[in-house]
Amino acid sequence: MKSVFEDAKKRLHKLGKLSGMSNRVIASLSRPRSILCASLSVIMDDGSIEYFDAYRCQYSSLLGPCKGGIRFHPDVSQDEVQALALWMTIKCAVVDLPYGGGKGGVSVDPKKLSRLELERLSRSYMRAMADFVGPDKDIPAPDVYTNARIMAWMRDEFEVIKRQKQPAVITGKPVGMGGSLGRDEATGRGAFHVTEFLRNKEGKAAEDIRVAVQGFGNAGYNVAKFLYEAGYKIVAISDSKGAIYSADGLDVENVKKYKDKHRTLESEYCEGSVCETLESETITHEELLALDVDLLIPAALENAITKDNVHLIKARWITEVANGPISAEADRILHEKGTVIVPDVLANAGGVIVSYFEWVQNKAGYPWTLDEVRERLKEKLENTFEEMWLYQHQSKKSSLRLAAYAKALKRIDQAVEIRGTKEYFMNSGV
Ligand code: NAD
Repeated sequence: MKSVFEDAKKRLHKLGKLSGMSNRVIASLSRPRSILCASLSVIMDDGSIEYFDAYRCQYSSLLGPCKGGIRFHPDVSQDEVQALALWMTIKCAVVDLPYGGGKGGVSVDPKKLSRLELERLSRSYMRAMADFVGPDKDIPAPDVYTNARIMAWMRDEFEVIKRQKQPAVITGKPVGMGGSLGRDEATGRGAFHVTEFLRNKEGKAAEDIRVAVQGFGNAGYNVAKFLYEAGYKIVAISDSKGAIYSADGLDVENVKKYKDKHRTLESEYCEGSVCETLESETITHEELLALDVDLLIPAALENAITKDNVHLIKARWITEVANGPISAEADRILHEKGTVIVPDVLANAGGVIVSYFEWVQNKAGYPWTLDEVRERLKEKLENTFEEMWLYQHQSKKSSLRLAAYAKALKRIDQAVEIRGTKEYFMNSGV
């Protein structure tokens, strides 16, 4: 199987070179600072014990404590976690957060676990990582197939181990357990804002934009909902089980309602699928990608678009809500074709921005209103988007992705400069 991490590094090297960055910063980002691998033992409901491979990667702490989600998915591997942690490093730097990048994951199919097994797995993860993470070291958050409840279990486990309240150890918690208002919708809301900034620059009406959304979880559902409310026509939606299409447009809340229909208290995950939605036809995952739409939103997993299927893509714009949904080679082909891509490190940054707000609120012990969260999120993304847009228009060959990497690498290079030699900061332990 192709290495996602090698692909991520290939992109880093290419964009670093194109943006004129020093070898020093590229070298410093070519390997993770540290990674902890663990085998989690979990007592199952039938009394047996199962073992799960778990990871936490602290990619870089040059700009602050590491920050990044925890994924529960059968395909989680050290390679994938490292790639995701590298992208988190770039993302936090692009949107001016005082964070480095990290990521974690467990190789598990969480849909096969009971709620109690899921809780034991989550607590076991935190027990394995408790000395590695911390509010000023490395702050996890939700990612694919993890959610606020899982963050709450992990916070609780950390506090039991440390024998003190530490709400800022993890973000994406339920509001009643130190979470921030607006965190659940933040990734989708952020992606909606950047899409709107792009639409305004391109001078198109929302009603004229036909959208296909791949992935209908936290990020995919929320971005689809906000776009739908703003008048965009959502013609296709998919999840892991399949895809649906309606030329007249889908009602996003209706789709969500049908998907949630079989949700049971025993399960943390939706058992239903978008495919159960009425008044739409079922299409394949591949057909969704090939639709003649204006905007394609990959919001599932990495490598959705590679050199093998990039020829299918007809969308004029792509908002990358998933992390790394387009491989480096496919990205080059789309760029040459003139497809405008809002890159993941900007498009899905709403999640980590509001995670940062949550961390700030936890540290200050002072919660913000929903309006404050939403306004500050929009302002941060607008400033960053404007900066990227300006950079992109300085040269014909440029792109929003190059602009984002150029900014991030410059910030990190300054930190390298200030802190001294690579050997110094690699070994300093913080
Ligand atoms: P989630 O677990 O809430 O949802 C994942 C969705 O993807 C589900 O609807 C699932 O059915 C669907 N899916 C899985 N495989 C698919 C496939 N092959 N085709 C179509 N759909 C498929 O996860 P999420 O939090 O929404 O994360 C989605 C993406 O967004 C990931 O790449 C994640 O790293 C990224 N992201 C999430 C956040 C966040 O705050 N949740 C922040 C930044 C980036």
